[in-house]
Amino acid sequence: MAHDVVLIPGDGIGPEITSAMRRVVDASGVDIAWNVVDAGAGVMDEFGTPLPEHVLDAIRSTKVAIKGPITTPVGTGFRSVNVALRREFDLYSCVRPCLSMPGDGSRYTDIDLVIVRENTEDLYAGIEFDEGAPEVAELSQLIEASGQKTFKPDSAISVKPISVSGSRRIVEYAFEYARRCGRHKVTAVHKANIMKASDGLFLRVAREVAERYPDIEFNDKIVDATCMGLVQDPYAFDVLVLPNLYGDIVSDLAAGLVGGLGMAPGANIGRDIAIFEATHGSAPDIAGKDIANPTAEILSACMMLDHLGEGVAATRIREAVKKTLAAGESVTGDVRRAQTGSTEGCVGTQAFADAV
Ligand code: NAD
Repeated sequence: MAHDVVLIPGDGIGPEITSAMRRVVDASGVDIAWNVVDAGAGVMDEFGTPLPEHVLDAIRSTKVAIKGPITTPVGTGFRSVNVALRREFDLYSCVRPCLSMPGDGSRYTDIDLVIVRENTEDLYAGIEFDEGAPEVAELSQLIEASGQKTFKPDSAISVKPISVSGSRRIVEYAFEYARRCGRHKVTAVHKANIMKASDGLFLRVAREVAERYPDIEFNDKIVDATCMGLVQDPYAFDVLVLPNLYGDIVSDLAAGLVGGLGMAPGANIGRDIAIFEATHGSAPDIAGKDIANPTAEILSACMMLDHLGEGVAATRIREAVKKTLAAGESVTGDVRRAQTGSTEGCVGTQAFADAV
């Protein structure tokens, strides 16, 4: 029987990389009934929202979706569709494996680490007040009344909620993932020395959860030291579990260890719904030119195939990607530039998919 999957092409390079991904998945022989629906700025005029109800209904029905990146206006305009989807379906775990592939053009070889990012809380909760909003003055008064030094009156405020239950389930996910995938160590990343309440809570809960997994090594690291450590000795890390914002930033850093954003896949996993997508954004600077690297999206599809119980096809596609990169004749410009310093002799998005 066919697997029903919602496909959201997305913005920018999204349509190009998802079409490449779809051709590769279809060529693997797995029977997928693709339900293609649009979200983002392009549907605003028609539906008055970047995330129409029929898109949510489609995902509720299939429980599995794969998407291209969706542009979020900076500073003003609608809130992130990506964040809205994660919150709507409570997709609390964002799993981003970073695995070296021969020929990926990176400075490092044999990187094998996994980012587990909390996906629903933290500064991404979307609780924000502009400067001058009455809530800002009220909050200032509350803080003064508690005896603490308050902030400047012309401040804007973003709220950073981190809960015991939210921290517990993401750290448990990281440990369960480590056990299931035969990994040996989990590192909790935080800034609890400065944010003693919110990050302090995350660290305390992580330590409590770690006690229940004596078979898995556990340590914790401050986020800035983690960034330095990842660049200097990435082999010291295995599974990293992070609150939302640090997880977002460190994911891009880790992508840089394995050839860049074009190589880094991801999955947003909830209790019964999963949405797969590359780590990168819509890359407007290279959109519509058939030059984006579809590897991250193709590897995200492999994670989806594993999730659908189609592990054999997922492994075949991963091997095909590895072989194509290692052969070095058909690679996209980002990889060629990383390998040789120039894009000369690279191929386009669709030609790379053909080669795979
Ligand atoms: P980006 O990830 O889109 O691009 C950063 C850099 O990486 C650019 O130089 C781009 O050309 C390059 N790049 C990204 N993907 C690539 C690929 N597959 N192949 C080759 N090069 C690639 O980050 P940005 O420019 O900061 O964000 C653009 C938009 O994407 C913003 O609106 C942002 O909000 C959105 N975004 C969406 C998602 C998502 O849909 N999940 C994630 C991140 C950012």
